[in-house]
Amino acid sequence: MTTNKFDTLRIHAGYDPKDHQFASSVPIYQTAAFGLENTRIADQIVAGKLPNRYDYSRDGNPTVRVFEKRMAELDGGVDAVAVGSGMAAISYTILNVAENGGRIIAPSNIYGSSLDEFRTFFPKFGIDFDFVDDINDFVAVRHLIGSETKAIYVESVANPSTEIADLDKLAEIAHNAGIPLIVDNTFPTPYLLKPFEHGADIDVYSSTKGINGHGNVVSGVVVDHGTFNWDNPKFPQFSELEFTLGDEETGAQESFISKFGKKAFINRIRIKYLRLLGAVLEPMDAYLVLIGLETISERLDREVASATKIAKFLARNSHVKKVFYSGIEKDNPLVKKYFPRGVGGILSFELKGNARNVAKLIDHVQVFSYLPNIGDSRSLIVNPTRTTHREIPAKIRKQHGLTDQVLRLSIGLEDVDDLINDLEQAINQAFK
Ligand SMILES: *Cc1c(COP(=O)(O)O)cnc(C)c1O
Repeated sequence: MTTNKFDTLRIHAGYDPKDHQFASSVPIYQTAAFGLENTRIADQIVAGKLPNRYDYSRDGNPTVRVFEKRMAELDGGVDAVAVGSGMAAISYTILNVAENGGRIIAPSNIYGSSLDEFRTFFPKFGIDFDFVDDINDFVAVRHLIGSETKAIYVESVANPSTEIADLDKLAEIAHNAGIPLIVDNTFPTPYLLKPFEHGADIDVYSSTKGINGHGNVVSGVVVDHGTFNWDNPKFPQFSELEFTLGDEETGAQESFISKFGKKAFINRIRIKYLRLLGAVLEPMDAYLVLIGLETISERLDREVASATKIAKFLARNSHVKKVFYSGIEKDNPLVKKYFPRGVGGILSFELKGNARNVAKLIDHVQVFSYLPNIGDSRSLIVNPTRTTHREIPAKIRKQHGLTDQVLRLSIGLEDVDDLINDLEQAINQAFK
């Protein structure tokens, strides 16, 4: 299937009906464990020597495996591991890269929970972060790289400003320093942007969002480009001998690199973090994400078209101070280079007036839903400083123009004229 294009892969990749009674839809293997058949076969299964056999759904499950393989192909990676949420994908990735301590460079305008984790939680585990205000300030990024630096972490499209990270440049800086570039590509999804084509080494996703697209599952996935060389004293966890990877009978000893080669990173997340910390994705949830993924291209094309129209409407509205949507910045070279199909269905705008006007607007929307999510088939509105970005100190929010008057929209699949009319009447109510 590897020669097929995106729209074919999203339907077929990672699934061979022959292996599943020719079921057309991927079956839901709703089971905690799998029979080991006999003691001889059991030894092979638990040693990972039979790729299509499973023992326990925390270690692997056939429905979840289809989702992992499909994501790896859609994103252009060598393998993927699915987990119970986007935050689990981010946490396991950061820990896997820097579990013996170290520093990571990241921008300060990232997803609220990510920033909270990086600022206040991971330092308790010996992983410290060096933040930059503008991730495309390459002088500042280079300046922060030191002997302890283990990775550069970015969001391809920032939330809620939709600022775009210049991945080619950042990958070059990271690779010159012998460290990987990790990209949270949740906003665009692999349909609008494939970070691996621009040098990224690891992609993390909240598949709760546009990948699934229906707002009915919390889930995450890590995809490995397979290009970064982990055989480096900076990352000893990949080359040290692991008891669990060895062969008791022959006495052979293995490390993640010797056993898995290019797939060392993803297998280490699976065998260490997923198996031992346990944030597994359930088979039923993997099934729902697979169904959502089948329509990703049509959904995102439609959401981009509607978001563009809505951004233009807002830019003309006299009660709107500013629109944040790089999709309408015609001369932005990063849009041209990275997003020929559009930047996505998420945009923000700053309302004139005060907190009362913002509250009245939210309380008067009828088609938009007021809730903290993105990438749903329903259109959503949220006030980030009171919800999704509440954990971010006011000082950092202000630096990025994120005031209490900013509202974030995630555009769904409703009729765009109804969405515009809804916003227009709500704005009018807000200033009545
Ligand atoms: C939602 C989101 C996350 C967290 O994902 P969950 O599935 O909610 O855990 C991480 N990064 C970005 C950019 C997100 O939008």
